[in-house]
Amino acid sequence: MLERTGIPTDDDLEKVIPGKKRLAQGPVVIIECFQKIPCDPCAISCKLGAIKPFKDINDLPQVDFDKCTGCGICISSCPGLAIFVIDMNYSEEKSLIKLPHEMLPLPEKGEDVYALDRAGGILGKAKVVRVLKIKNKTNIISLEVPKSMAMKVRGIKVEDKNNER
Ligand code: SF4
Ligand code: SF4
Repeated sequence: MLERTGIPTDDDLEKVIPGKKRLAQGPVVIIECFQKIPCDPCAISCKLGAIKPFKDINDLPQVDFDKCTGCGICISSCPGLAIFVIDMNYSEEKSLIKLPHEMLPLPEKGEDVYALDRAGGILGKAKVVRVLKIKNKTNIISLEVPKSMAMKVRGIKVEDKNNER
């Protein structure tokens, strides 16, 4: 399934999503990288050692969730746009997702954008609460979403105001 569609199954996701106890403790990384390819910048990017050192460049990332602070630095290191940070404690009703975003236009802080699932389908609208522009690297968008959507939203679509008539 993953090989054909590029979309992970529930079984795939179960292997990379932290347990409920860790999720309840605050922001934490989720790395949705499932195919062994020669790539390792994520492991080098985490200065806290939360992404365990690779023994081989084809290794899949392994996370020590207890060491992860959810800082999000690793997000922009990943050429596969496979790294996210989820904060299930953001507010009573909302979670915060930090996600990679390479497309233009960039959204603005406070803007409502379309929240997309892993297949690019629209799940609804969500508010951008931070835009972190990183020179020569992938930008990071922080998005406020209902808690029920936290494990589904993995991208955004921004309305291009220049094309509006
Ligand atoms: S979010 Fe921060 S602490 Fe967690 S794995 Fe990424 S770089 Fe390390
Ligand atoms: S940098 Fe991204 S694509 Fe490369 S191994 Fe790490 S998570 Fe996978």
